[in-house]
Amino acid sequence: MAETLRTDTRSTFDAVIVGAGFAGMYMLYRLRELGFSVRVYEAGSGVGGTWYWNRYPGARCDVESVQYSYQFSDALQQEWEWTERYATQPEILRYANHVADRFDLRKDIQFETRVSATTFDEGRHCWTIVLADGTEVSARFCIMATGCLSSTNTPQFPGLDSFRGTVYHTGHWPHHEVDFSGQRVGVIGTGSSAIQSIPLIAEQAQHLFVFQRTPHYTVPAHNAPLDPEYRRRVKAEYPARRSRAKQMFAGIDLRLNDRSALQTTDAERQREYEARWAFGGVSFMGAFNDLLFNADSNATAAEFVRGKIREIVRDPELAAALSPRYVIGCKRLCVDTGYYATFNRANVSLVDVGRSPIEAIAPQGVRVAGKLYEIDSLVLGTGFDAMTGALTRIDIRGKSGEALREKWHGGPRAYLGLMIAGFPNLFTITGPGSPSVLTNMLPSIEQHVDWIADCLVFLRERGLAQIEPTPEAEDEWVAHVNEVAGTNLRSTCSSWYVGANVAGKPRVFMPYIGGFPAYVQKCCEVVAAGYRGFALSGSTAEIPSLLSDRVT
Ligand code: NAP
Repeated sequence: MAETLRTDTRSTFDAVIVGAGFAGMYMLYRLRELGFSVRVYEAGSGVGGTWYWNRYPGARCDVESVQYSYQFSDALQQEWEWTERYATQPEILRYANHVADRFDLRKDIQFETRVSATTFDEGRHCWTIVLADGTEVSARFCIMATGCLSSTNTPQFPGLDSFRGTVYHTGHWPHHEVDFSGQRVGVIGTGSSAIQSIPLIAEQAQHLFVFQRTPHYTVPAHNAPLDPEYRRRVKAEYPARRSRAKQMFAGIDLRLNDRSALQTTDAERQREYEARWAFGGVSFMGAFNDLLFNADSNATAAEFVRGKIREIVRDPELAAALSPRYVIGCKRLCVDTGYYATFNRANVSLVDVGRSPIEAIAPQGVRVAGKLYEIDSLVLGTGFDAMTGALTRIDIRGKSGEALREKWHGGPRAYLGLMIAGFPNLFTITGPGSPSVLTNMLPSIEQHVDWIADCLVFLRERGLAQIEPTPEAEDEWVAHVNEVAGTNLRSTCSSWYVGANVAGKPRVFMPYIGGFPAYVQKCCEVVAAGYRGFALSGSTAEIPSLLSDRVT
């Protein structure tokens, strides 16, 4: 949706928020309700963040719609009608726009405005935020709502610029409809985005070449329209459902089986996997309680999925090529509609680029192992510079001009994934070191936003100018994040969780894998102990200049 461009002359705010996705929108809502002056800067021309940019065919959320939604307003959750079990990208974007309208958020969002730099001014205890056109604004607090999967990853394929067809990236899809009818199309990548788009592109294209470096595990979504009676029941039960979800490891209300996969007979295990495959979605990994902790247990689930691939894909060689051999759930489990069956189509070819990487992109197509695959359009489903990319592409400088890029040279370091030592009054919503991408993003966002809002009120009530983590607290948290990651099989493969998809990125498991409830408890304990691990300093009385053009 095109927005009216807002550019105004105000240059000083209590808080600047970067990004108008679900995190930025709720942060704006909370801070405005609390009487802070706030400006949001958003690179896109509309709200929605990831759902604004990811418009590729088949894009939809793999968390069920009735759970992937805000819960801060009961009126909102009662009035909004989700139409499908898994909402499509257009429906989620409509929801984001509805929220923006309902809470009148747009008046404080400046669209089509990228933040290029932000520097902490120690004397004034505030941030100077530089916009792409060179405009500077000041804010006591700078809140990064920049998303975990928003900075796209385009591998440096030699010759990419020479391609004479059109190149698309799933994470930066055009706003107009793309029609592949009659075309030869290449898709590079077989992660969640590609797995959702491949079946639909295959239906349109004359021929589709899928360039696969690593096969991914995917389970069927079994998406369907939502029955009105089910919707009514969910709405009546929202409070109980939401609080049950918050007690779950991933913040998602899933049926989990509290038994080891190794404590069951083969027949029982098979029955459980079959039932979960028939039910569909990520609850497949809840079949047993040790699938991500015990390699032997995990192997039973992995073999079950490989068996399904052999059943679905008619050509045994193709089935073998599509079958992953690593830990299931290590790379994010995908959820699909008709993915494996797509490879039975005569107009779809799988090209293995695992053993022989893509040599080059030529004007006419993709060259692999000396062979040219001629195509008209190329789709890059090559993912994101996850978790850190959206932050490090902004020139963020803390105390004494320290650059965040330098500080994170060996991997991200933050306390609770919320704040960074040396960068006072800078907050990261669902930043590295928080559960974020391992959970349902919406409740994780709401928890972070509420924590930050409470923190700003705490500072305001005490007239405190500055908060930042102590280096010791940060070191301890980073050590804890790494230690917990080491106990989980998710840290054992080359995934974007460890930065393996981006050339040169340090290999560090970035999200916190201790689970949503334990993490929330830790955040609450820190606050109850007077913001343990944070240094609070300065007085707002010392910085009157900042208050000169407050919103009245
Ligand atoms: P991704 O999971 O990182 O997948 C990228 C794909 O590109 C992988 O198959 C990767 O292969 C391949 N690739 C990268 N560089 C390559 C190269 N140089 N040569 C050949 N292949 C290359 O990215 P994504 O599919 O966009 O998904 C990212 C995340 O976004 C997901 O894990 C999920 O969290 C989120 N997402 C969610 C949904 C949903 O809710 N349904 C949908 C889309 C995305 P390797 O595996 O070998 O690295």
